[in-house]
Amino acid sequence: MPDHTDRTSGDWGPETLRAALEAAAEWTVDYRQRVGELPVFPAVEPGGVRRALGDRPPREPQSFERVLADFDEHIASGLTHWNHPGFLAYFSSSTRAPSIVAELLIAAVGVNAMLWRTSPAATEVERTSVDWLRQAVGLPASFSGVILDTASTSTFTALLAARERAGTAVRTDGLAGGPSLAVYTSEQSHSSVEKSALAAGLGHRAVRRIEVDDAFRMRPEALETAIAADLAKGVRPAMVCATVGTTSTASVDPVEALGAVARRHGVWLHVDAAYAGPAAMVPEQRANFRGWETADSIVLNPHKWLGTSLDCSVLLYPEAAPFRASLALTPTYLESEDDETNLMDIGLALGRRFRGLKLWVLFRCVGTDGLAETLRRHIAMAEAAAARLVDGGVFELAAPVSFSTVCFRAAWAGDQATGDRWNREIMARVNAGGRSFLSHTELGRRYVLRLSVGSVHTEERHLDEVLDALHRAADELSPGEPG
Ligand code: PLP
Repeated sequence: MPDHTDRTSGDWGPETLRAALEAAAEWTVDYRQRVGELPVFPAVEPGGVRRALGDRPPREPQSFERVLADFDEHIASGLTHWNHPGFLAYFSSSTRAPSIVAELLIAAVGVNAMLWRTSPAATEVERTSVDWLRQAVGLPASFSGVILDTASTSTFTALLAARERAGTAVRTDGLAGGPSLAVYTSEQSHSSVEKSALAAGLGHRAVRRIEVDDAFRMRPEALETAIAADLAKGVRPAMVCATVGTTSTASVDPVEALGAVARRHGVWLHVDAAYAGPAAMVPEQRANFRGWETADSIVLNPHKWLGTSLDCSVLLYPEAAPFRASLALTPTYLESEDDETNLMDIGLALGRRFRGLKLWVLFRCVGTDGLAETLRRHIAMAEAAAARLVDGGVFELAAPVSFSTVCFRAAWAGDQATGDRWNREIMARVNAGGRSFLSHTELGRRYVLRLSVGSVHTEERHLDEVLDALHRAADELSPGEPG
């Protein structure tokens, strides 16, 4: 591979770039073919990768060939392979091939979509792809939105708008001296809701963790009681956050009923559908989303289950005005006469990546039918895996199967500590095998294993493999003694 850095620009010339792209493309295609043979979790000790990278930056340019070889040897070998077909932990995700190519194009043009005029097409592609997503998940045309980095940022941004709508004048006066505010979310919601409250200056104590029913869904009557109690104390409710697809069990809060409570009290309703949102593309799953069209804001992450690369989180809303009211601020040097939306007005960041392109490329290259079919397949695989787990008699479900997520544990009639230890050891044994990767959670104070299907690479045989590994580990490890 040629290795000339242009002495004037300090950048590669076209031949060097072409050769590097070809080498990176070759590596990428090869990696995608062999990732299933690699251990999902790398065999590295903490600090090992850093040591291999060396202490000091090189003063002289090195060839990309060498850099790529080191990437392969020291970096790729130290990755947890999210694109491994046996990756079933957390909310498993994967990068669909078109999104890889889109990332290349995004980097190639390297635009900043802060204002319409700083890259008109970037703003318009983002608005188009968000609208295509809105249509695909069946939300009304009144909804529009932006693409942010993560669901945590989207929920935080929604809370800032909700805080302003709650009648506070935080934008002008700050929080000091204002009313106490409260945020309502279920015991099962993601920590990003709590973190948003911390970041928005509401404080930890402002978060009301509302009780759930035995299927881990927020109870509307408990929400009503909590809001009424706060109002009686002079606390102002700022936001209700319902979740469709909670982090542990993928349970679905009754959004319609919770929305009715929120509306009765004039409280902002945010729906966290970060994981499960894309499933609204599947007609048989639509009922899970009933009522979300009444929300003031919704977050769903194409980077979780739709197959875009991280990061791509879509924040949707029927009205942009509250978002602008909370954060829009245009210094003279960013003023422009164009009427088109300036997406920097929604949210904290000024600089904005051209994320819309990867969603647009995905829609173009896969199509909504193809995307829905993958989601449907994942849900069917998870349901079949759950049925087989229970059939074996060793494992029991710890929660109803929801979307593509299964919570289970090896059933143990003895004391809880022993049962928990057994389950922990089973998971460690399966993960150590390198063929599958599961994660855990806690439900009803008991240690629970989770399996979530979300990768385009996962096939039936990978679920066969993990089920075999689970049964083998349960057989080999005795619940009575440490393994
Ligand atoms: N909401 C839910 C339901 C989640 O499960 C997660 C993460 O898994 C998040 C929000 C946070 O997502 P992000 O990493 O995009 O901030």
